[in-house]
Amino acid sequence: VRSAILAVGTELLGADRADTNSLRLSAVLADFGVAVQHKSVVGDDEAAIAREVSRLADEHDLVLLTGGLGPTADDVTREAVAAAAGRRLVHDPALEAELRQRFARFLRRMPETNLRQAAVIEGATLLPNRRGTAPALTLPLGSATLFLFPGVPFELEGLIAEHLVPWLARRTGGHKRETATLKVACVPESEVDERLQPAYAEFGREPITVLCSPGEVRVRMTATGDGAGRAARLQAMTARVRQLLGPEVFAATEAETLEEVVGVALRAAQATVATAESCTGGLIAERLTRIAGASDYLLGGVVAYSNALKTALLGVSQEILAVHGAVSEPVARAMAEGVVARTGARFGLAVTGIAGPGGGSEEKPVGSVHLALFDAAEPRASVHHLVRFPGDRERIRWQTSQLALDLLRRRLVAAGSR
Ligand code: ATP
Ligand code: MG
Repeated sequence: VRSAILAVGTELLGADRADTNSLRLSAVLADFGVAVQHKSVVGDDEAAIAREVSRLADEHDLVLLTGGLGPTADDVTREAVAAAAGRRLVHDPALEAELRQRFARFLRRMPETNLRQAAVIEGATLLPNRRGTAPALTLPLGSATLFLFPGVPFELEGLIAEHLVPWLARRTGGHKRETATLKVACVPESEVDERLQPAYAEFGREPITVLCSPGEVRVRMTATGDGAGRAARLQAMTARVRQLLGPEVFAATEAETLEEVVGVALRAAQATVATAESCTGGLIAERLTRIAGASDYLLGGVVAYSNALKTALLGVSQEILAVHGAVSEPVARAMAEGVVARTGARFGLAVTGIAGPGGGSEEKPVGSVHLALFDAAEPRASVHHLVRFPGDRERIRWQTSQLALDLLRRRLVAAGSR
């Protein structure tokens, strides 16, 4: 399959927005052994889009377009492709009814400009879009197949899974590449890399990639080729990497988050948690509540930013605060114990630190965070960590929440294995 990708949008030609949709589409195509032969970006210009589409359809079997399906006047991909294909745009009453229903569902009036999205290129097949108002379209042009996708990455993702992947599977006879992902939290990238040396020696460097984001490292394994050997190779690689990384691995899929994994572990242990947060301002509790059903194990949390509230709401003694300062081990431990005493949760998770950019000192520089986990079922297993995170305020707060959740996860693993 000779393939090409065309990203439409004037904003993609400027300095503000990068075309990431084509990267995502290239990755999906690669899974099916389809290499991209051409990529281009065209502004919101009907004639220019039509010219590019004609040219790409002449030279490729598959042409994927993203962007320009919206309701505003600058969204002209539909018109341009209709012109290139020599077809008319026809109004689809069923599509209009669907659009109106969608707006009604969100208690909104539909602006008349949205009616443009009910126009369909004659002879094209509509591909329903559950995540937005513009459906995708597919149509033949010469010997090529065209797909028109909306530009919003979140909508594109849904349409890829629902429509593009099945099409590619039919056309190419299935996957030519499989990947697996293992995720670890709060281990530096270089340390992960060091631990993976034996796996590199065994399987080669190329099929194992280490991807880093703040507070999280993903190790992605890729196996290519046909047949059963591929799955077996992927399995062997994954098992070896898992063994080398040990209990630091918290997830075995790309999508799983730390808050999800912690939730599953808490529910399995029939345990509850409450948080006591200073520098994260409730981020840890917020992340735990992202998971539906979190009320099974999360009792709640206290955001105690001032010393006075640390005392009033968490029972941290004024002496400890005066002697050690708010950012200290004794205060973190007292916060964790205090929130357990007041909520009756089994686990108390507390953080206090200096997120910056100001407020640091020689002794306690920006990025210093004390974390404490109190386990009422086994007080001697309670832990404290002092860490120093790099980065700006946002990163420091995020990494703090990562480490806090991971401390709880590791405690649950340890408690469960005995
Ligand atoms: P909608 O139905 O939301 O109007 P659309 O097809 O009109 O979708 P655009 O208006 O082109 O899409 O883009 C919507 C959003 O998606 C914009 O924020 C834009 O920056 C982003 N976007 C568009 N194309 C790309 C791309 N190739 N890569 C990454 N982001 C993109
Ligand atoms: Mg646009």
